[in-house]
Amino acid sequence: MSTVCAVSTPLAEGGISVIRISGEKALEVAARVFIPFASFGSVLNMKGYTCAHGRVIDPADGKTVDDGVLTIFRAPRSYTGEDVAEISCHGGVFIAKKVLRICLENGCQPADRGEFTKRAFLNGKLSLTQAESVMDMISAQGEYTLRAARLAGEGKLFRDITSVKDRLIKILGELAAWVDYPEEDLPEVEENSLRHSLESSAQVLSGILKDYDCGMLLKSGIDTVIAGRPNVGKSTLMNMLLGYDRSIVTDIAGTTRDVIEESARLGEFILKLSDTAGIHETDDKVEKLGVDLARKKIEGCALVIAVFDTSVPLTDEDYELLEYVKSVGKNLVIALNKSDLGTVLDKESFKKYTAHVIEISAKQGEGTEEIKAACAEIFSLAGYDADSTVFVNERQKNCASQALNKLNAALSALNSGETLDAVTVMIDYALQSLAELTGECASEQVVAEVFSKFCVGK
Ligand code: GDP
Repeated sequence: MSTVCAVSTPLAEGGISVIRISGEKALEVAARVFIPFASFGSVLNMKGYTCAHGRVIDPADGKTVDDGVLTIFRAPRSYTGEDVAEISCHGGVFIAKKVLRICLENGCQPADRGEFTKRAFLNGKLSLTQAESVMDMISAQGEYTLRAARLAGEGKLFRDITSVKDRLIKILGELAAWVDYPEEDLPEVEENSLRHSLESSAQVLSGILKDYDCGMLLKSGIDTVIAGRPNVGKSTLMNMLLGYDRSIVTDIAGTTRDVIEESARLGEFILKLSDTAGIHETDDKVEKLGVDLARKKIEGCALVIAVFDTSVPLTDEDYELLEYVKSVGKNLVIALNKSDLGTVLDKESFKKYTAHVIEISAKQGEGTEEIKAACAEIFSLAGYDADSTVFVNERQKNCASQALNKLNAALSALNSGETLDAVTVMIDYALQSLAELTGECASEQVVAEVFSKFCVGK
């Protein structure tokens, strides 16, 4: 495998930039471009886990580019499992790019996205689920997400899935004995224990799948639509929520996000906010387009915050919005805004639409805590145990869902008295999906896909 290098720190001004080199020739390249100060000896003699202070030079002209620190990791005791050299130089886009260029001119190939982590996976340092968690740690935006990623990183997911797999392999072994003698019926005791084993394997998977939904909610945020007729204070409310702890989720290279979104963090939740026009019948063509769009947004969201002006009576348009949200069955928070102007609306009268009716004054910045509390009630994390195993992405979830479907198919084959062959085949399929999940038999395409989402340098 070639020796690769990349800048592992963000290409921006900062304290330090790290240029990472990995591969057979890592030390050779480092020795060419880095001259340790006299007391540190030669690069080629450096032991693993040691550093040297010295100069980065350009061998083309022998000139010093920067001074910095070289850290050496010897195979297999490195992140990638290969020889690794890391040059820490002064943080700056120009210096980092220059040192990178010099490394490229002296025996390295440019590293692909996630190439260091991919090599760690290919060298058996990490399972595929652990490798995926590396990316999740980098993009984690909250404590829960970070914990979930860290647990996967520590190999908990891999171990849990492996224990299900081991159990299924054991079942297959037992079944093989019976399948060889098809004329013999499976004794009842055996059948019960087989059923029990299948059921408990399915239970483990469905438990992890359930936690995934909570995990995703915390990780990806809640698609939230702020709806209401003009002038009720939607924009003011949006600004209030964003101002609370403004966080702009940008298109960060190497994360799965590919759109720029504006989102507000409320405690552990991230609300991905968009506001819409009101929902009302209209003959005006342009207005109708706006209303159709609002309907679509509401249909696709996870939470509607319907805003009303509490200082004046409700209008037909307000009622239409309430009825529409009810008809599509969306989670609803009713925000009775402008409470500072006095209130003519009765909170109780909204109870048939939702239990979450709050009075706010967006203009005076009052209501954020109430909205946060309503979210916590609606998107209950009760039962969600961040210390339990969770999948960190759709790929893992899909593999587990497929495995669960096959296990359920095996169970119904067993319960309806089909041949043990049929049961065996289904368990086999389930095993394949689980092996794909952990990466043990993931195709090259799957592996390439996983690492293509990483940033360069990781
Ligand atoms: P939108 O059309 O629904 O987005 O409404 P805006 O956010 O633009 O607000 C319309 C008007 O209502 C503006 O003049 C706001 O300053 C005012 N407004 C918004 N929220 C409040 C509030 O809580 N109290 C008072 N008194 N005025 C508010």
